[in-house]
Amino acid sequence: MTLSSRIRTLHDSGSDGWELYRRARAMAEAGLPVIELTIGEHDIPTSPTILRAMHDAAAAGHTGYTPGEGLPELRARIAHRVAERTGVPTTPENVIVTAGGQAGLFNAHYAALDPGDAGLYLDPHYATYPGTIRAAGGRPFAVPTRAEDGFQPRAHALEAVIETRPEARSLLINTPNNPTGAVYSRETLEAIAGVVRQHGMWLISDEVYDTQVWSGAHISPRSLPGMTEHTLVIGSMSKSHAMTGSRIGWVCGPEAAIAAMGDLATNTTYGLPGFVQVAADHALSLGPAFEAEIAAPFRRRREITERLLAGQNAVHAAPIQGAMYALLDIRATGLTGEAFGHALLDETGIAIMPGESFGPASAGHVRVAMTVADDVYEDALSRLLDFAARRIR
Ligand code: PLP
Repeated sequence: MTLSSRIRTLHDSGSDGWELYRRARAMAEAGLPVIELTIGEHDIPTSPTILRAMHDAAAAGHTGYTPGEGLPELRARIAHRVAERTGVPTTPENVIVTAGGQAGLFNAHYAALDPGDAGLYLDPHYATYPGTIRAAGGRPFAVPTRAEDGFQPRAHALEAVIETRPEARSLLINTPNNPTGAVYSRETLEAIAGVVRQHGMWLISDEVYDTQVWSGAHISPRSLPGMTEHTLVIGSMSKSHAMTGSRIGWVCGPEAAIAAMGDLATNTTYGLPGFVQVAADHALSLGPAFEAEIAAPFRRRREITERLLAGQNAVHAAPIQGAMYALLDIRATGLTGEAFGHALLDETGIAIMPGESFGPASAGHVRVAMTVADDVYEDALSRLLDFAARRIR
């Protein structure tokens, strides 16, 4: 039996940029000493207090079907958090609970795009973006950002793509950014929002790293003038609460869009586990102090990174303003990110992600996830920098 072309073409043909990751995983599984600085997974498990809440909720009977939009108390808690953090009045009707930020990204694009519409995203980008746009029926087109601009998106670059793609209905942005570490400034966001409004597009704002800001401030574009009705915000508890495996996130947007996504949920997930949602509600009730505690290791490792980078000149990096990654420019070595990554893995057992996995704009870079204990991280990054320095001599 043949599969639909829709599902067969979710990914571009050819290399998906994840060979290095898979090779490192296979080596680690075979018992070889590998330091994995690859994916955005915390080096701590979900907190016992959250797990206890999950267990207690399941034991108390939260094991049945739940409303497609999410438990009312969790929607209310998320609405309250969003309103507090952004100043935008937000009600439970503005929030749908999703299976992680990833399902939120799918729902938002499904709501924004008709089949064949262009869905724009910024390059470099989180790995799933083009596939998610395709899965929702759209056609993905990249808007490049440049290392020279600190990877801040520029309105003229967006205008240039829209000129060739007048059928563009959405733009997906991500601040704080994976993989670049950029936190978009108010000027950047206002300029982008202006273009989005002018063309009557949706702005899909992936804010899953909103608790990991090391310099500057996180601004949600939903809070900019005239943007509340244009913006679908993607949130998640994966990064903020170390709950990646619980698959809990949300979309926050206009009531009509959220209600439509509720209909979608009826036909896709049919609701999410009640005990996980009760645990998520408990996790959010722990407030900003808990979120700061979960973010603290990345704040420390970002400082380690800045210190080590300042002491060498083989590798350049845009300032790490947020999120749990360092994007290092290794072009002085003359290697591609992919070649650098394979050679580094062979020689040192350190695994990183090649910049090429995140799009052409980060070619010649490597992304280092700051996701191992501080001393292991510091040693691995020093060895990576020595490796790079030897390649340019
Ligand atoms: N968006 C970005 C930018 C990410 O880096 C990730 C995960 O790494 C996600 C969304 C999806 O996260 P989750 O589905 O776990 O919330």
